[in-house]
Amino acid sequence: MENSEEEFKLLSGFESSFFIKDNMTLKERYTKALKWWEETNPNADTELVFHNNFELLIAVMLSAQCTDARVNQVTPFLFKEYPDAEALSKASIDNILRIINSISYPNAKAEHLSRTSRILVEKYNGEVPSEYDDLLALPGVGRKTANVIRVCAFGIPAMPVDTHVFRVANRIGLTNTSTPEATEKELLRNIPKEKLGKAHHWIVLHGRYICTAIRPHCDKCGLTTCCKFYEKEVGKHK
Ligand code: SF4
Repeated sequence: MENSEEEFKLLSGFESSFFIKDNMTLKERYTKALKWWEETNPNADTELVFHNNFELLIAVMLSAQCTDARVNQVTPFLFKEYPDAEALSKASIDNILRIINSISYPNAKAEHLSRTSRILVEKYNGEVPSEYDDLLALPGVGRKTANVIRVCAFGIPAMPVDTHVFRVANRIGLTNTSTPEATEKELLRNIPKEKLGKAHHWIVLHGRYICTAIRPHCDKCGLTTCCKFYEKEVGKHK
């Protein structure tokens, strides 16, 4: 359900920053960006609504290639009828589908929710596991989803890379990468561990509301002095 690398580049509005000349060190770029996000959005968090790890897992699975706002409209009905893994594991695919029908890829997601809930009940006593490999083995859970669960549910340092994180990190010049995996590795290498939990939300929200894929709102952005894309594409026209 997570995007292929080519889809990822298309959806993220990817532009290679390879030819852009550096005017500051990588460390300075990270320091400036993290400082600005910390000052302007100290309480950054996921926009998905959830009350426990099971709800978080289901909401993140539903949010693949779908907006958090849409997921938040649907999950209250789903969780009212099926409040835990045990209940959802017994639900018919048709009824799950009826509830999540307005979400992208409902057929595949209904199937994944059902199979994942069964595994949670059979292998983990209805709980959500915290180990990366255990999460990744759940149907409908890819690398990004597993990392979101580790950060948001268990506070384990990780960097989930979605299309926003991929685009924003490469535009600013925090990374110079062409795959989500390479982006994840670069960000993990350069962001202090204690800031990783927040950093994921900072970058996602920045991509969602300011550094948007089609027309980034550079006039509202405090990162113009450390952004490679701005220096190359916007600053030169001023
Ligand atoms: S200056 Fe523009 S391109 Fe750079 S991070 Fe900000 S919004 Fe994105």
